[in-house]
Amino acid sequence: MSEEKLSFQAEVSQLLDIVVNSLYSEKEIFLRELISNASDSCDKLRYLCLTEKALSSEDSENLSINISLDEDNKKISIIDNGLGMSKDDLINNLGTIAKSGTKDFMKSLTGNKTKDVSLIGQFGVGFYSAFMVAKKVEVFTKKAGEDESWHWVSDGKGTFKITNIKDVNRGAKIVLHLRADAKEFLEIPRIKNIVKTYSDHISIPVNLEIKDEKGQLTKETINSASALWTRPKNEITNEQYSEFYKHISHGFDEPWHTLHFRAEGSIEYTGLMFIPTNRPFDLFQPERKSKVNLYVNRVFIANDLEGLLPSYLRFMRGVIDSPDLPLNISREMLQDNPQLRKIKKGLTSKILRELKDRIKDSEKYNTFWTAFGAVLKEGIYEDFEKKNEILDLCIFTTLNNSSPITLNQYINNLANAQKSIYYLTGENVDILKTSPQLEIFKNKNVDVILLTDPVDEFWISTTEKYKDYPFKSVMVTDDEIEKIDAKDETEKKIKNEDKTGDVDIKELISTIKEALGNEVKEVKASSRLVGSPVCLVGEEGGMSLHMERMMKQQGQNLDSPRVLEINPKHTLIKKLSKQNKELITEISLLLLDQARIIEGEAIPDRANFAERMSKSLERSID
Ligand code: ADP
Repeated sequence: MSEEKLSFQAEVSQLLDIVVNSLYSEKEIFLRELISNASDSCDKLRYLCLTEKALSSEDSENLSINISLDEDNKKISIIDNGLGMSKDDLINNLGTIAKSGTKDFMKSLTGNKTKDVSLIGQFGVGFYSAFMVAKKVEVFTKKAGEDESWHWVSDGKGTFKITNIKDVNRGAKIVLHLRADAKEFLEIPRIKNIVKTYSDHISIPVNLEIKDEKGQLTKETINSASALWTRPKNEITNEQYSEFYKHISHGFDEPWHTLHFRAEGSIEYTGLMFIPTNRPFDLFQPERKSKVNLYVNRVFIANDLEGLLPSYLRFMRGVIDSPDLPLNISREMLQDNPQLRKIKKGLTSKILRELKDRIKDSEKYNTFWTAFGAVLKEGIYEDFEKKNEILDLCIFTTLNNSSPITLNQYINNLANAQKSIYYLTGENVDILKTSPQLEIFKNKNVDVILLTDPVDEFWISTTEKYKDYPFKSVMVTDDEIEKIDAKDETEKKIKNEDKTGDVDIKELISTIKEALGNEVKEVKASSRLVGSPVCLVGEEGGMSLHMERMMKQQGQNLDSPRVLEINPKHTLIKKLSKQNKELITEISLLLLDQARIIEGEAIPDRANFAERMSKSLERSID
């Protein structure tokens, strides 16, 4: 028998270290994780029997999970007759973390154990949780359709061994050699209780093997073994829903909302879907896959099938089970199946309707929105048909409201003569609120939607209007804002000042333009500024400054022309107009850098900026 000693991938060792050293307060969840793996493995086998010619339907009969307790040797075994694992499977599945994004995720661990535990929970430590209670773990396994059997063993400290062994039953037997402080997991009532709590909904029977007084082995089924989603709603408790959610999502949070429903009509299906409370860690991975388990008549088909849900609803977790989908076709064909398209359509409408109902409870809805709003907004430009429905579901932070509001609420509060929905995009609400471009809006008490999710740039540039109100960037100058009455006296005061101190703005503008050369495309007199001397704006109809920064961060080399607006009413500008060309040049460069700083941009030549700044301070002290 050849024995091979292999090392765990570095990330696994790191993970094991956290797991073993106190990861969960509830160590009992190791059983939930191992039963869950066993049940997944049975599900996979059942599906393969339908699609792979080498396997017959007999192979998927009598699937079960057995738990065997050995008090004398302090061992607990979890045995399934599911798919099993080949040698490569053992190395890949129980030695590495193969899931995409997980390595990046491991890098983001904070070192704070409590925090890391809940983070880790989101991607499921699964198998490795066995090491919370076991000092040594063994796996005996044979994969369906293969001849060779394998033994895997590890004490969880950096390495594992794999050996080719004589024939064992198909499936996997996981043997845990319990630590001295984990003996409670040999007690029958304790095991029954854990299975009832965490694994009652598993659709495969979980049996407990017990030796009676005469030493005879008896088997008792200790879960209900009926798929939770097939049971009537009124027989299911909130706790059961919550456990089921945790089982399928690997989450530690409670569901934010649960949808259990049956659709009847041209296609029949049952859905048990959850909106999580917390963001799953892989929500923003480029694949944007949805993670809903698809079953056909309780036969598990896939948990990441494209075509079941639009990507902008990928935060949903749960199960869809339909008797009307064909079983014996490939994944690719299923993805294109017209029946599946119908389910997708029905589900999308259902979920959006549910959200519409929930929006009334604004405090609760805010939690949902903080976690998933940025994902849902992708639908505004991806789903033409649902665009307006999704816009109804959006809430926004605005200049004048401390808590987010809907677009409807925004248009119900328009200022007199206001015809547009004004917005400003950027990285951060607090910075946006101080933007000089907003001065006239503050002055006239006109509300502005502040958009800070990267996705906002995309939907806003492809969405003309909401109801009859066009979206308008505050960066674009037009005379609408001029026509809106100021709600206080400040503006009137400024207007009066104007008359007395007008400057020859044309000449100043051309001197500034000459001084700044190609740094800006244009210099203009501004009507939007009140307290600031200058600001930068994008070209009308062009890319927003924020979008440009985002593209640059992605490595795109962009230099779209900027427009520098100057405030003719500002004392500094008035004084500047009376200076000689040399000083105007100097101050203009300084003002341009100042406008860049306010925009949150880097100054191209910091040394020069500092020098000019010092000179200017020197002058002001004289
Ligand atoms: P997860 O279940 O979240 O994928 P785990 O760490 O629990 O992560 O398991 C890793 C992989 O090991 C599983 O995806 C599966 O491929 C394999 N595996 C674990 N337990 C079993 C089992 N009892 N039978 C077959 N394969 C298994």
